[in-house]
Amino acid sequence: MDLSQKLKKIGFVKDASNVEECGQHLVFNKQKHVLTSDQRSTLKHAHFCKFRFCPVCNMRKIRFKLAPELFAINEFLSYYDKTKYAYLFLTLTVPNPKVDDLKSTIRHMNKSFQRMAESKAYKQAVKGHFRALEILGSNTPSGEAHPHFHVLLMVRKSYFTNPKHYLSRDKWLSMWQHATRDDSITQVDVRKIRPKTLKDGTYRTAFASAVYEVAKYSTKHTDLTKLNDDDFYSIISQTKNVRFYAYGGKFKTALSALENDPQTKINILKKDLHWLDDLYSSYTFSVSQYSLDHEKKITHVSSLQTKLCSSNQKYITQTDLDDLQPKETAGVDIIDLPYPNNRQ
Ligand SMILES: [Zn+2]
Repeated sequence: MDLSQKLKKIGFVKDASNVEECGQHLVFNKQKHVLTSDQRSTLKHAHFCKFRFCPVCNMRKIRFKLAPELFAINEFLSYYDKTKYAYLFLTLTVPNPKVDDLKSTIRHMNKSFQRMAESKAYKQAVKGHFRALEILGSNTPSGEAHPHFHVLLMVRKSYFTNPKHYLSRDKWLSMWQHATRDDSITQVDVRKIRPKTLKDGTYRTAFASAVYEVAKYSTKHTDLTKLNDDDFYSIISQTKNVRFYAYGGKFKTALSALENDPQTKINILKKDLHWLDDLYSSYTFSVSQYSLDHEKKITHVSSLQTKLCSSNQKYITQTDLDDLQPKETAGVDIIDLPYPNNRQ
């Protein structure tokens, strides 16, 4: 059963229809390179539902917002801050709550994380973090939730050599136990993120690997549709207005500096992270048809000026080319989404 049907069944009719409509109507702009005549199509207009657990919207959020933000933060820091950093991936769990207690448990986890982040040992070791919340594990029993944090930590390179900064796995565990006031927690997972050479020979920096990890875990919300109706209802209700992502430390300050500067904001949006599309190639959407909309096409022509001044300097749009020709040449085309690469 898909997400929309499931939502309808439990009475979330409006969310259901939003999810069903999500991405159904997409308008693409055909563009032609002025020198090479290469053509490409870019998504210019679409309705997306923004429902928290919509797979399309989730994917888009990570691909087009969070990942570019993280890369921009990283660039910003390496430019202004000459310290050498390394990255850790930390997973923090708490005992499974009942689904009906999910919201209060998440609140408790947020508070606990904050307590931990304010401790001396943490502050000495960690300089920035990005935290993503996941609410189910792969084998969570029915009636229960499994909220946990996946945290990308930025530490000084000296973390591994300076005993004053280094935190062992046991130390992380005791810090988390202390922060949550819960000694029954027996596990934390912490690992160093390393650069990686992929099968096709491409090299992925440690930071890129870190972003990939975070993105990987943050796209799993689709498992929700496998829940029974009661659990599904509770989880949807319990996660209303809950924040799933948070920045801290230097990540946070860098991001606000970037956001306040319109020029860098444009640069964030321009980040080319097509390699992340690998992650999503296994997604199947309910979306089946895409059409170019005549009316929308016309409104795009007026944005030519902006386009030439910003990210598409070498491209002019096909619609603009069409506009110079007799009108009847502008037909309706069916064009694939620019991502993921091999979708139907
Ligand atoms: Zn959506």
